[in-house]
Formats: sequence, C-alpha cells, structure tokens
Amino acid sequence: MTPATTPAHHERQYARTVRRALRTVPHYRERQSADGALPPLTRDEAEARRHLLMPLGAALLPRRDPGPRPAGEHIAELYEALCLAGRRPRRGAEVYETARSLRDPVRAYGVTWRVVLSPAAETDPYYRDPLREHHPDHPDHLDHADHPDRAVPSGRQALVIADTDTDTDAGAPTVPRLSLAGSDGAHPRGALWHEPWLGHLGAVPPSCGELHLNPARVHARLLDGVTVLTLLRHRRPTLVHVRPEGAELFRPESCPRHGRPILRRERSSP
Ligand SMILES: [Zn+2]
Repeated sequence: MTPATTPAHHERQYARTVRRALRTVPHYRERQSADGALPPLTRDEAEARRHLLMPLGAALLPRRDPGPRPAGEHIAELYEALCLAGRRPRRGAEVYETARSLRDPVRAYGVTWRVVLSPAAETDPYYRDPLREHHPDHPDHLDHADHPDRAVPSGRQALVIADTDTDTDAGAPTVPRLSLAGSDGAHPRGALWHEPWLGHLGAVPPSCGELHLNPARVHARLLDGVTVLTLLRHRRPTLVHVRPEGAELFRPESCPRHGRPILRRERSSP
C-alpha cells in the first residue's frame, strides 16, 4: 500500500470529506441539526434532494456547474478500476464502454475510450450530446463524426466493458461489470464494480476474487450495522454515507491477500 493510501490516510480523507459536507452542503447540515448524525442516503433520496447535495453557493454558478460530469473524471475512475481488476488496457487499445447514451470518444492514458450503446438504450433522432453542447472545443474530444453506435467492436486491441462475462462474437475480450445488487459470485477473469448512479467504485482482481473498493475514491464503513459508502472526490453532488441497492448483502473488511479495503458478501444463514 503506498503512503498516499495507508489506512490512516484513508480514514483522514473520510473525516475531511464528512467535515466539508457538514460545513458546505445543505442536505448534511439539515440532517446533522435534525438527527445529530448523517444517516444512510438512498438513491431515491439522493435524486429527490440533488440540489441540496451541491455545496452552498456553488450550484447556482453556471460556469462552475456545466451539467454532466466531465468525461475526463469518468475515464480516470474507469481506468483506475481496470487497473485494480488486473485489466489495464495496453497503449493504443480501444476501450468500449457499454452505455445507455452516447459520448464523444476520449483519448487518455494512451487509450481511446469509446461507448457502444447497450441494447436497452433508447435512441432519439433529435438527440444532441450535452457534453458537446457545453464543451464544443474540449481538446479531449475527437471528431464528432466518429460517433459510436450499436456496432460490436472487434479485434485484439479492443476491450469491451459490459454487463456480461462473454467475449463479443467478433472476438473482443470483455470485462464484466457488476453492481452490489447484481453481484453473483465468482469472476475468475476480474470484474469492475459499477453502480449506475455512483460510477466505477472498485473491482474484483482475479488474484483474490474479493470485491476491492478504490480507496482513493471510496470509503466504506458500518453505520448502525449498515454498510454505507462515502465518495471522497465527489463534490457536485457531495455523496456521504450513501447506501446503494444490495449494500445489505456486504460488509466492509480487509482483503486477506492484499490487506486493502474490500466489501465481502455476508454468508446467508442456513
Ligand atoms: Zn485482494
């Protein structure tokens, strides 16, 4: 474990995130004064109170609130999760992320990051890419005419992030993506941990098969017997003590092989 992610540093980062939330975010100030604590935050509550999860004074500044999360942050999170899963993409590779909406290709880490539309995606002929609307000259964005579609990627240089563990018909290797609610056990080739409303939070390395969280970005703890997550780098919205669906099945522990924070599935009682 590097000095930057020692357990003590990890706990300090968590404490700092909580203090900042109490100081600057209306939702947490309200909860603290009403309950004297920060109770678990569910997805429904986070969506209904999204405006109250933004830091005070910041949400109303359009220049500082461009709407969708910058693609660069999303890619950094995905790249770190792939490294954690032991599936770091090679330079020159193309990574296709299965998604419900389009995004311009992004070049970062020597890799081109694309999306391929999931079969569940609803296509709108009048769709306009919000990232493009807000950042028409963003240097990370490649040619707009190069839009992805439902085509299945092929070739050895492609890597597909998908909700399945089956390689594409065209032979491109797949990295499966799981959520706590959808996790169903062994992933011998590694897997990414992704919650649709929280992003890529960690991964299952094939070397241990445990569900590692990315300690640079996520902190997990028990709160009155309930597993809650705090996103250490998210400010807009600020997400402290969130409770994703399926969290009741997992408890925070330390990986017996790597000594790093994991979530372990609770054994069901016989
Ligand atoms: Zn491990």
